[in-house]
Amino acid sequence: MSNRKRAVSFLCALCMMFSILIVTRPAPVYAESLSEQLEQTRQEKKDLEDKIEALRADKDKIIQEKDLLDQRNDKLRVEVNLIQRQSDETQARIEELTAQEKEQYELFCKQVRQEEERGTVSYWSVIFKSASFSDLLARLDFVGEVMDYDRKVIQNLQDTRKQLSEDKAALEQQKAELVSAQQELQAQINAASELIRDFEETEAGHQALLDQAASDEKRIQELIRQQQISSGESAGYIWPTNATRYVTSPYGDRWCPYHGWEYHNGVDIGAAYGTSVLAANNGTVIQAGWNGGYGISVMISHPDGITTLYGHMCDWNVSVGQKVSQGQVIGWCGSTGNSTGPHIHYTMYKGSGTLNPLNYLPGYIPYDW
Ligand SMILES: [Zn+2]
Repeated sequence: MSNRKRAVSFLCALCMMFSILIVTRPAPVYAESLSEQLEQTRQEKKDLEDKIEALRADKDKIIQEKDLLDQRNDKLRVEVNLIQRQSDETQARIEELTAQEKEQYELFCKQVRQEEERGTVSYWSVIFKSASFSDLLARLDFVGEVMDYDRKVIQNLQDTRKQLSEDKAALEQQKAELVSAQQELQAQINAASELIRDFEETEAGHQALLDQAASDEKRIQELIRQQQISSGESAGYIWPTNATRYVTSPYGDRWCPYHGWEYHNGVDIGAAYGTSVLAANNGTVIQAGWNGGYGISVMISHPDGITTLYGHMCDWNVSVGQKVSQGQVIGWCGSTGNSTGPHIHYTMYKGSGTLNPLNYLPGYIPYDW
C-alpha cells in the first residue's frame, strides 16, 4: 500500500472510532415501580461496563498502531540523518574542488603573468615580438600547450564539481521526500495520540456514569427495602429481643477480627449479657445447644419455610422438636463461640440461601457500622 493510501485508510479508521467516543447517558425514563428502576439501573450499569470494555480494546489497538508508527518514524529519522551526512560530505567535497579550481586558475594566471614578464608570452605582444612567422607559430604553440594543460585541469575540476552538485541535488531531493514522509507520519502519530487521549477521556466519562449508576442501584435497593418494611412484607416476625434496637453488624460483607473480610450471613444485635432471646415467630425447634462457631444456639423452623438461628447465647431454654410460639424465651444473650462480646447473632435461612434480617427488624438502629 502506498503511504498516501495507508494514511487515508488510517484516518478512516480513526473516524469510525470517533463515532463510539460519545458519552451519552440514556434519557431518564420514570419507571412505574422501584423494581423496574432497579432493573433499568442494572441494565445501564451493564451497558456502561460493556462500553468501557469495548473502549479499552479499541484503545489498545490504537496504542499498538501508534507504536508501529513510532517505530517507522524512528527508522525515517535515521535515514534522514544518514542522507544529511552524505549531503554534508558532498558539499564539503564541492567546496574543496571549488578551492582547487580557484587555486589552479590563479596558478595559471601567475604562470601567464610570469611568461608575460619574461616577455615569452603575451597575448598582445606575442604577435608583435615574433621575429618571424615561424617564431610566432612556435610562441603560439607554447602558449597553447600551457593553456591546454591548465584548461584540462580546470575542465576536469569543473566536471567533477558539476557531478558532485548533481549528486548533492539528488540527495537533497531524496531528503526532502523523506522529510515530507516523516511529516505525514508525524501527523498520523499526533492524530493517534489525540485519539488515545479522547479514549481516556471517554473512558473516564463512562466510569463516572458507572459509579453514578452503582450508587443509584444502592439507593433504589434501600428504597425497596424500606417499602417492603412499610408495606408489611416483614409482618409475622418480631425482634428476637425486647431489650434493644441496636444492630452492631449488618448483613453482607463485613470485617471480622478472626477471618478478615467475610460474608456475614445474619445480623448482630447488641444486647447485654443475660438478656432474654425470643422466638421471632411460631415454629419448631430443630437445634438447641452447642453449635460450633455460633456457640450456644437455637434454630427454629417456621411454617413459611424460613428458619431462624440465634447464636452466641450463654444458655438455652428449649429442646429439639419442641413447638415454640412467637415471643417465647428460648435462651439468654451471651458470648459463646466466635464472639468478641455479648450479642445476639440472628440469621434467617430460606431455601439454600439467607435473607437480610434487617428487612424483618423494623426500627433498627445501625450502631457503629
Ligand atoms: Zn454474627
